[in-house]
Amino acid sequence: MMDKLGTGLKDAVKKLAGKSVVDRAAVEELVKDLQRALLQSDVNVKLVMTLSQSIKKRALDEEPPQGMNAREHVLRIVYEELVALMGGEVEVTLTPQTILMAGLQGSGKTTTTGKLARYFQRKGLRVGVVCADVFRPGAYDQLKTLCDQINIPCYGEPGETDAVGVTKRGLKSLGTVDVRIVDTQGRHGLENDLIAEIIALNTLTKADHRWLVIDAALGQQARDQAARFHEAIDIDGVIITKMDGTAKGGGALSAVAETGSGIVFIGNGETINDLERFDPDGFISRLLGMGDLRALIERAEEAMGDDEIDVNAMLKGKFTLRDMYKQLESIKKMGPLKQVMGMIPTGGFDMPDEALDVTSVKMERYKIVMDSMTDEELENPTLINSSRTNRIALGAGAKPEEVRELIKYYKTMQKTMKAMRGGMGGGKFNMQRMMKKFGGM
Ligand code: GDP
Ligand code: MG
Repeated sequence: MMDKLGTGLKDAVKKLAGKSVVDRAAVEELVKDLQRALLQSDVNVKLVMTLSQSIKKRALDEEPPQGMNAREHVLRIVYEELVALMGGEVEVTLTPQTILMAGLQGSGKTTTTGKLARYFQRKGLRVGVVCADVFRPGAYDQLKTLCDQINIPCYGEPGETDAVGVTKRGLKSLGTVDVRIVDTQGRHGLENDLIAEIIALNTLTKADHRWLVIDAALGQQARDQAARFHEAIDIDGVIITKMDGTAKGGGALSAVAETGSGIVFIGNGETINDLERFDPDGFISRLLGMGDLRALIERAEEAMGDDEIDVNAMLKGKFTLRDMYKQLESIKKMGPLKQVMGMIPTGGFDMPDEALDVTSVKMERYKIVMDSMTDEELENPTLINSSRTNRIALGAGAKPEEVRELIKYYKTMQKTMKAMRGGMGGGKFNMQRMMKKFGGM
């Protein structure tokens, strides 16, 4: 389901990235596209409206921070607002702890208990599980089968009807494991005795965590369930299951976030490994297809640090070997060009493969070759005739072909620059920023 939401959001963002001017009309169009995508995945209308309002207001009122262009500024606002919509991040510690599982029947508690046992086991902790579901026939067998898959102790008393008693004996029998997970019964509705039982189990276990399991298919209705359980036992984390199978996941996620209960994990499949930690930042950047946009911006800023590139000269059409040298330096600090390009919305501009396929080894070679050029040559590469080529090669301990290859690469880059200037049409300010991001290209 998240694929669909992701596609909608990505398209909206891509459209903005491809706009030559980010003005009021562009922002309004973006907001409309975002609304459509969010509403289609069942996010509450009121939430969507609030979100749109604040995106619009911020995008139009706030000045972009120093060094950030209008486009990036708006994208960052969208990103921040969506992250906020998903609530805060819930910490999961790898210390000894007792976890009480709550939720209605069929929500995925038992399956998730198995998945969590696996999660902590993989982190190197010893895990034990108690089956406190005395209501559903076969509950113990279901849990035991899961635990047997991963060799984890599972305590249960099939046939016994006192959940509190079973749990008390179960925790004792598990002894000194690090993580103790208590799977409970569910039933179909929120009945009073179900709530009473979960409160009693909470008191008995003194659980460190009370995690509520909710089926994503509930969509916005997840809000009521989350609120009700929260009231009873102070839920400190929600796990949303079946995110793999419904179009309503966006609704469940945002509804739960709205109750103030953070989302700890999402379940996205039926096997014991289909559990994913939920962190709003990563989740949204993935949905937006921005890769790790934040890290990228940070890296770009670091890389740009002191040695400024003469962007203005380049804008006027001048792109010398010296500029390329600086560009290679910055790229080295930012990581492979191909990867960097993949993370930036480029407004539909595709870098030619020859420009991207430069390995870091080759970049180093190019720099060595450039080191044996004169200032004059670096400023004006057309001077480099065949006798100069031979001299440069000799000085760099390289073959003349290597020098020629470098010149060829330089020409490709020069052409690319020109095409970008023509194709992006994003105004001078945008262009500068783009160049900086690409390491001065
Ligand atoms: P419980 O009654 O709350 O203990 O729920 P169960 O753990 O028995 O799960 C009910 C059904 O949902 C089972 O058929 C599970 O296989 C299925 N299920 C649980 N989590 C997921 C999930 O993340 N994705 C999918 N596709 N199915 C799930
Ligand atoms: Mg169960």
